[in-house]
Amino acid sequence: MPDRLKTVLLFGAPGAGKGTQGSLLGGIPGYFHMSTGDMFRTLDKESELGQIFYEYSSKGELVPDEVTLELWHTYVHALAILGMYKPYSDLLILDGIPRTVAQTTLMEKYIDVLGVIHLRASNQEDMIARLHNRAIEQNRIDDAKEDVIRNRLAIYERETRPVLNHYDQSIVHEIDAIGTLGGVLSNILQVVAPIQDTCHTNPAKV
Ligand code: AMP
Repeated sequence: MPDRLKTVLLFGAPGAGKGTQGSLLGGIPGYFHMSTGDMFRTLDKESELGQIFYEYSSKGELVPDEVTLELWHTYVHALAILGMYKPYSDLLILDGIPRTVAQTTLMEKYIDVLGVIHLRASNQEDMIARLHNRAIEQNRIDDAKEDVIRNRLAIYERETRPVLNHYDQSIVHEIDAIGTLGGVLSNILQVVAPIQDTCHTNPAKV
């Protein structure tokens, strides 16, 4: 693996649409979408890590930084070994990490952050409704209860939003999260396509 992975962060409050936009982007060759929420949800619920995840996520809380970082690193490595993620040619689109200032610092040696996409939704009540609907559709325990959703949003404001200040503001791009899937994706692509163009050492041009 390269020393530091070329990365763009998908940033935003729960319900802003990071996962949806991330998977659309991840469908385009040259982009690899990795969500830590999805990573945690694939854990065996009977395993020690699966139990830790359940303990925190069911209350809307964040899994401790060290556990998260260790799992994330192992996971990225495994995806690269399996050839699903190609670190020399793919731009890594991280969704859901770093989520605290401590994680940001711990990750510095692994990732080279070339851009931060801040998906913003001005109306918090819209996001709460979105999360609630998604919880019902996808059977996600963390968003099924309104008090858990509110806790997730409060933790976002307290722990996650300060991560934005860690980066040079010239690489932070504010994008309106409200709009059609295609419209929001198009705005994101305007930012990430030039980044992806410059970072691959092995262009797969068609
Ligand atoms: P998400 O689907 O991104 O909202 O994540 C669902 C849950 O997974 C969160 O509420 C946390 O419990 C856990 N989680 C995901 N990413 C992280 C992270 N970077 N740090 C700590 N916990 C995380």
